[in-house]
Amino acid sequence: MTEIRKHYFLNEYCILASGRAKRPQDFIKDDARSRRPAKDCPFCPGNETMTPPETAVYQLNSGQSWDVRCFENLYPALSPPDGHHEVIVETAKHDASPADFTDVEMELMVDAYQDRFNFYAHKASILYVSLFKNHKREAGASIAHSHTQLIALPLRPSELERERDVIKQLDRCPYCSITKEESGSSRVIFEDQTWIAFAPFYSKTPFEVWVIPKRHINNITCMDSSERTSFSRIFRDLLRSLKVVLDDPPYNYHFLQTIDEDYHLNIRILPKLSIAAGFELNTGIYILTVPPEDAAGFLRGV
Ligand SMILES: [Zn+2]
Ligand SMILES: [Zn+2]
Repeated sequence: MTEIRKHYFLNEYCILASGRAKRPQDFIKDDARSRRPAKDCPFCPGNETMTPPETAVYQLNSGQSWDVRCFENLYPALSPPDGHHEVIVETAKHDASPADFTDVEMELMVDAYQDRFNFYAHKASILYVSLFKNHKREAGASIAHSHTQLIALPLRPSELERERDVIKQLDRCPYCSITKEESGSSRVIFEDQTWIAFAPFYSKTPFEVWVIPKRHINNITCMDSSERTSFSRIFRDLLRSLKVVLDDPPYNYHFLQTIDEDYHLNIRILPKLSIAAGFELNTGIYILTVPPEDAAGFLRGV
């Protein structure tokens, strides 16, 4: 049995090929990764001179000189005057990742995200700030120590432009509609008064998760304090569920958000479990081997 599924509001499709449906354990690889020892790690405390000087640090009452540390990327994808490329090391602990964070550690990371996004988004020549995390080498992380990246661009990404062209034709915000349509559905993983996290009906990869605030806000700096607390918990718990269900898979997550135009903040988590091959490159259609409804069930069960 196969099923063609359309994106919520774009003319994009995926194919659900449930005949080859997989269970989480089918994705788990024997992972003989060689982690760089902490003493050589440029992101560990004590090795700060191995990176450019910090642009910001954030502290808990941990006695550490920093708990989150930001600096310009040593090998930037973009550098001034074209743009900026910053690294946000979210933890001083070499082997931790956000899935392991305590409530306060997660809130500090979200603080840093808000602050650094805000700092770059308002610069005169900047039209978009890309905030994203690559977890593990298979997902593009070149350094094992957990970190997020921020690239401030002098242009608007075509992905977002494409969405906004469609959204302009609609009577109401599609993301507001999605939060209502998905509320209580079999695809929901976590939901409260302020946020919904679900495996989207149209997914590009098995175990893809979208996290959307129920209130129509443009970016993470617009969260009120209860939205911020709730987001920290839900986001950490999602990453923890993925870690448990898929044995710490590689993943990417990224924020879609704006400051100057009306758009509904949304965050996408994409585990790196399949590779885009010939068919995907030829058609832009993704073949999905785990129904989102099943993925949500596995992640909810943790
Ligand atoms: Zn380290
Ligand atoms: Zn909306």
